[in-house]
Amino acid sequence: MSVRVRFAPSPTGALHIGGVRTALYNYLFAKKHNGSFILRIEDTDQARFVEGAETYIEEALKWAGITPDEGVNAGGDFGPYKQSERKVRYKEFSDQLIAEGKAYYAFDTSEDLEDMRERLKEARVANPQYNAITRMQMSNSLTLSEEEVTERIERGDPYVVRIKLPRNEDVRFKDIVRDWVVVNTAAMDDKVLLKSDGMPTYHLANVVDDYLMNITHVIRGEEWLPSAPLHVLLYQFFGWEKQMPALAHLPLILKPNGKGKLSKRDGDAGGFPVFPIAWKSPEGEVAAGFRESGYFAEAHLNMLAFLGWSAGTAQELFSLAELVEAFSLERVGKSGAKFDPIKTKWFNEQYLRLKPDQELATLIKPIAPKVSDELLIGVCGLM
Ligand code: GLU
Repeated sequence: MSVRVRFAPSPTGALHIGGVRTALYNYLFAKKHNGSFILRIEDTDQARFVEGAETYIEEALKWAGITPDEGVNAGGDFGPYKQSERKVRYKEFSDQLIAEGKAYYAFDTSEDLEDMRERLKEARVANPQYNAITRMQMSNSLTLSEEEVTERIERGDPYVVRIKLPRNEDVRFKDIVRDWVVVNTAAMDDKVLLKSDGMPTYHLANVVDDYLMNITHVIRGEEWLPSAPLHVLLYQFFGWEKQMPALAHLPLILKPNGKGKLSKRDGDAGGFPVFPIAWKSPEGEVAAGFRESGYFAEAHLNMLAFLGWSAGTAQELFSLAELVEAFSLERVGKSGAKFDPIKTKWFNEQYLRLKPDQELATLIKPIAPKVSDELLIGVCGLM
């Protein structure tokens, strides 16, 4: 079976450096194995949808040089590649789980849920959840009669569909980066699969799409590791264990001082970009991009490749083709990778030195339009 991987951003704003690195590692892995790199837009969370974000993602990947083989713009046989366009299918899969007793309707209002949490807190339950025990005190198709459930649905009462997790079962899976992970369902929540607006949640849509798109490896950020046991259970519930993709969760990208996750604020404070290209939010807020700050796309990629992966040799400068050749998920580390703005500049400097004077002259022409090409080329050479 040929390798098929996907980069699946949600169009909620600019693509953070971590997102671009995820795209890059997926791309490198696909190319290394003569596989396909797919771009899928996960836009089922309408509350977080941001105008312009999808175009931004496409442009950013294009600038970085990470070209999808298949996906929203590239097309392909496994579409739609935008989740909102697959809405009807998710409902069918959710109906299937309900029919098989693996999921249920829940009618609780946000006040009901809040009350439940308060009650549990008073009873000193450390981590209040909707689970095998608490679900039996809530308004759902496990506690209400069949007639009442049908009646409520027919009269248009809002409902969600929740997964019915087993009460006390170990879920185990092997992550390529983190090795064995074991989580007991007692520590998990009956997560919502289908929301009251009829849209799937990330969990349902992600699993269904990875299955329908024949994804062989899921390579994504560590922030999704806590969701992985739920996804493993979904694969089991659907009977898709054999098709379950291999999982690889990439380490976090940390602030230069190593204390916490790198954020836009760190970039603002330290005077360095954390986004591939500049981003203007619908509110008019502008965030700096590597492109606009004078970084070469190749230097940016080279720097990103080393944020979590190491070649195992002394070589630091890699073209994209060389990265494809050298890359392996086995050489991705578990611990967070510190972003180093100085090293990032160093990478840029190396590429700058390698550029022909002619090319540099073309790049600076816009800021010195009156200077002759000949002179510009000469100055670039001297510099
Ligand atoms: N839509 C998720 C995100 O924004 C994708 C996570 C995944 O790759 O499964 O990161």
